[in-house]
Amino acid sequence: MRKRNLIIVSNRLPVTFRQVNGTLSLTPSSGGLVSALEGFLTSSKVKEQHGINKIIWIGSTESDERQWKQASRKISSHHFRYIPVFIGRELYDNYYDGFSNSTIWPLFHYFPSYSEYKSRDYDAYAEVNRLFMQAVLRTASPNDIIWVHDYHLMLLPQMVREKLPEANIGFFLHIPFPSYELFRLLPKEWRESLLRGLLGADLVGFHTLDYASHFHKSAHMLLGADEEMGIIKFENRLIAADVFPVSIDYRKFFEAFDDSKVAALRQDLKKQCGERKIIFSVDRLDYTKGVKQRLLAFRHFLNKFPEYHEKVVFLLLIVPSRDTISKYTESRQEINELVGHINGTFGNVGWQPVVYQYKSVDFSNLLAYYTGSDLALITPLRDGMNLVSKEFVASRKDKRGILILSEMTGAASELNEALIINPTDKEDVSAKIKLALEMDEAEQSRRISTMQRRLSDYDVVCWGYEFLRRLEQIKNEQQSLNVRVLSPGIFRELLKDYRNASKRLLMLDYDGTLVPLARHPQLAAPGETLFRIIHQLSDDVKNTVFIISGRTRTFLEKWFNNLSVNLVAEHGALLRFNNEDWKMPASDHKEWKDTARQVMLSCSRRCAGSFVEEKEFSLAWHYRNSEAELGELRSLELFNELNHLFRTYPVQVVKGKKVIEVRNMGFDKGSAALRIKGLDAFDFILAIGDDSTDEDMFRALHGSFAWTVKVGKDASLAKYNLVDSRDTVSLLNSLTRF
Ligand code: UDP
Repeated sequence: MRKRNLIIVSNRLPVTFRQVNGTLSLTPSSGGLVSALEGFLTSSKVKEQHGINKIIWIGSTESDERQWKQASRKISSHHFRYIPVFIGRELYDNYYDGFSNSTIWPLFHYFPSYSEYKSRDYDAYAEVNRLFMQAVLRTASPNDIIWVHDYHLMLLPQMVREKLPEANIGFFLHIPFPSYELFRLLPKEWRESLLRGLLGADLVGFHTLDYASHFHKSAHMLLGADEEMGIIKFENRLIAADVFPVSIDYRKFFEAFDDSKVAALRQDLKKQCGERKIIFSVDRLDYTKGVKQRLLAFRHFLNKFPEYHEKVVFLLLIVPSRDTISKYTESRQEINELVGHINGTFGNVGWQPVVYQYKSVDFSNLLAYYTGSDLALITPLRDGMNLVSKEFVASRKDKRGILILSEMTGAASELNEALIINPTDKEDVSAKIKLALEMDEAEQSRRISTMQRRLSDYDVVCWGYEFLRRLEQIKNEQQSLNVRVLSPGIFRELLKDYRNASKRLLMLDYDGTLVPLARHPQLAAPGETLFRIIHQLSDDVKNTVFIISGRTRTFLEKWFNNLSVNLVAEHGALLRFNNEDWKMPASDHKEWKDTARQVMLSCSRRCAGSFVEEKEFSLAWHYRNSEAELGELRSLELFNELNHLFRTYPVQVVKGKKVIEVRNMGFDKGSAALRIKGLDAFDFILAIGDDSTDEDMFRALHGSFAWTVKVGKDASLAKYNLVDSRDTVSLLNSLTRF
């Protein structure tokens, strides 16, 4: 494998500069993203598993260019090469405090009322994303892997894609992706740009299935992007959107239990707390972390269970964060007041129920808290993942300790043996605190061990490995499903093949292929030119022409009755060869139709502009003329409802372009194609179609010499693409000359 570089792009470089007494000092940055990524990137396996030469980290820095030059010797690391992005103070504030943390952060964490919508901030966000794009373009070679991280850089993948269409780009979102109803609160231009930005990546990774499906839904509703089995088709590309719950460097936390410094600090802590049970929590200052609700629940616990007075102490560690944003300072104020209130109400000279610290701590101290406490109380109102809970579990080599964890964290879907709570339910939280304090050691050990097994099986190295492996996979899938526009050279080949053949088969879809899609099916009539072309082609004795359509037989007869074309109506339910009688290979039970019609009509009443098309073997609900968002919403509802209704019934519910169709099981355009008599005897086959139902026809011919052509620039199983129905007509017209 040719060596390439791995380029990590995140908002900040993982080092912080400080001028202390005139000299530059450097400290490692804190926070979930950096801890997770460093755990993966510094593992010895990364380079060998992925054929990586160098790891380059692009990120912004607090320093200016002069300071950077001064300090660059100090920051050289044997793991990474750092590329700084310099951003002016005001621009950075509007991008970081503004759009990133006062618009996206609260909205994506389900605090819509905290979100601010300022054009100035969005412009700064776009401008900073452009600065990152320039840094990436200066750094990346064509084969490199570009891995963009988090909500600060959601426009970046698309910006890079425009300049480097073939680049390998992965994006990972470390926070939740909110439900569609919340995401759509963003102004139209912003929300569409953010989605397009993400869809510029080849792979978009999320912590949980919920976040991924919220993203699929928003991409579908707002950009009309279709998704199947985690693969999104958008414009002419395939993008994978998948789930990779971020993990931790398991062994580092597990082994730290025996570290002498950690052990000594743990001893000190236990000595200071004496016989008292220790409840511990650590979070960055953030209203999403539910610290207020946690304190209220602890107060409730003390009120309700006075037998625990003087028997517990709650170590509340808050790491300073974003304290230039007013919601954060308000949150800090609230915490101060509540802590004061609890200590004032319940405390005495010898006992302070809450020991509150507002600072960051180093690894050894953090591990002393993790390993010295009896109970970790982790109660975010919303958290993309929450690494603290995983770190706590991993660190308990002694198999002691209980985790109380909010169901609103991504981690809750993996840490099922924690005591799971709803952070706003103070009754339940206080009951769980009591339960935890009284839990016997065997039960603690059973729970911790099970969670530890899970975490050690899927640690942060697996997380990164899985992400990069999926990125490689989707690049391969893209190549096999690439859009190949029928170029003049290939077109000449096709004509040559056609001319040399003595027995030719032409299979032509109707709507969207021979005629443009119309507002109403009845309006899509063949024009004179098309009619003449089909006439000429079907009169040629070397040719067998099929119109393979979803239309009714009445419609097809009306237009093509006097020609020697063969007709396939209703996606293969009805076939007519050589103007003989219609054949009905499909079973003709239709009892389902009344129910389906009622459901579709009810849907039409709730979606202005949509209507039901009645056919013999199928019913179609069209929403081309409805307002786009409402149409997409109703089509999803209808699709789900019909699938549920007919789950045990031999009918299929199929999605087409702005249409949902129910039809009898057992036939499609693919099986219709295979039923064509003497298929093997043809020495030229051309199949053209534009819709998802035509993919069945392409699939049936896959691997044969047949020329398969998709109309439209979507990825398809067809070998080639044409831009629109005018191109089909012009191609067929060229055939008439031979
Ligand atoms: N952490 C830190 N400094 C501290 C205390 C904690 O860097 O003083 C780390 C902690 O070990 C964890 C991360 O900060 O890895 C917090 O990650 P989490 O996912 O829990 O929350 P986030 O801060 O990303 O919202």
